[in-house]
Amino acid sequence: MAGQNDERKFPRREFLVRTLQLPCSAAVVTVLGPLALGSDAAAASQSGSETSEHYFGMGIQVDKCIGCGKCVEACKAENDVPREPYYFRTWVERYVIHNDGDVSVDSPEGGIRGFPLHEGESDVLRSFFVPKLCNQCDNPPCVQVCPVGATFKTDDGVVLVDSDYCIGCRYCIQACPYGARYLDPRTNTADKCTFCYHRITQGLLPACVEVCPTGARIFGELNALASPLRRLMRMSSLQVLKPALNTEPKVFYSKLDGEVR
Ligand code: SF4
Ligand code: SF4
Repeated sequence: MAGQNDERKFPRREFLVRTLQLPCSAAVVTVLGPLALGSDAAAASQSGSETSEHYFGMGIQVDKCIGCGKCVEACKAENDVPREPYYFRTWVERYVIHNDGDVSVDSPEGGIRGFPLHEGESDVLRSFFVPKLCNQCDNPPCVQVCPVGATFKTDDGVVLVDSDYCIGCRYCIQACPYGARYLDPRTNTADKCTFCYHRITQGLLPACVEVCPTGARIFGELNALASPLRRLMRMSSLQVLKPALNTEPKVFYSKLDGEVR
């Protein structure tokens, strides 16, 4: 986790605070208070400490996903994501490998209503579903490009957007190599998956994890040896998406086919 310690010592939020020439980050939390911060950012300030004991990640077992889309629906409902089919904090893609080696990918409405069957298609070799979301990168390009420090990484490793600072410039949306961000048309600010930060800081699971009927998604602590996520890491060979980009995702996949982009 390169740069993690640096980030904790001198996070982007603190940098913003310093440029505003306020006395210290703690003072800013007091000055701005929860009402002045976005709800996730407020949760971050309340849960946060300079040295959080948590470091969150997610595991996704591709061979367990049945493409039912319950996670997509639960996420939209839990996080008040616009209902139009252009806005998702999590979505599911179906990969179809054909006999001739061609690969097709679809995600109708993000998979929120499941997927139509391949009726009549005789050339399908195999198909599988890949749930996607913000990878909560440990080295997040979205944070690096934000000109006002509105997007930042918490001490517990979750990348958040403070909507009160976001100026809607879309730099972060363009910088994310995973297509994980959108501009909320109601607020004109950037948004994305927060791992349900308001829930996990209360000891609850993210909504997508809680509703998954097959246990395809596993949420947990990267720091705790006995956590379900660390168990999955010990028992399976895990991959991340686009590893060559050095974004250091904290969403890990098991049984990920090489065709997945
Ligand atoms: S997946 Fe995209 S939005 Fe999420 S932390 Fe990485 S770069 Fe940022
Ligand atoms: S709820 Fe679980 S099984 Fe259904 S699409 Fe989402 S990850 Fe896959």
